[in-house]
Amino acid sequence: MTARRLTLTQLRADTAGAVDIDTALPSPFATWPWPRWSTSRPWAVGVAGDVPTVYGTTETESAAAAAAVQLYISWLAGSVVLDDLAKRRLDHLALIPVLAGRDLACRCALDVPCHGDALLVLASGVSPLVLLEDLREVAA
Ligand SMILES: [Zn+2]
Repeated sequence: MTARRLTLTQLRADTAGAVDIDTALPSPFATWPWPRWSTSRPWAVGVAGDVPTVYGTTETESAAAAAAVQLYISWLAGSVVLDDLAKRRLDHLALIPVLAGRDLACRCALDVPCHGDALLVLASGVSPLVLLEDLREVAA
């Protein structure tokens, strides 16, 4: 069976233990404090922190989520460098193989772009650079 992304509600409802990994906070696979979107309008995409770094804004939550996922993949691929999180990035990359073949759950709705979708692809053996290139081709 192919690994899939689920909601946290689906994860909690799974009493058979078939669903494996929670990628939302406080999991090491959660995106925070990596690029994310806020609840402000327009939606801000950036890095949380004492002084947030805003990479851009979008009009819709879904567009912000897509931009946040792209920033997340860019960070993993090394094309967006966050000096404070360099070690965390390496630790994160080292953990990705344990996700192979497992269902991933996140707080995101299933119809919203999510870093869990990227993690499913990365866990299948695709490199962050290849995934980033694929995203850029789709957007072009
Ligand atoms: Zn998510």
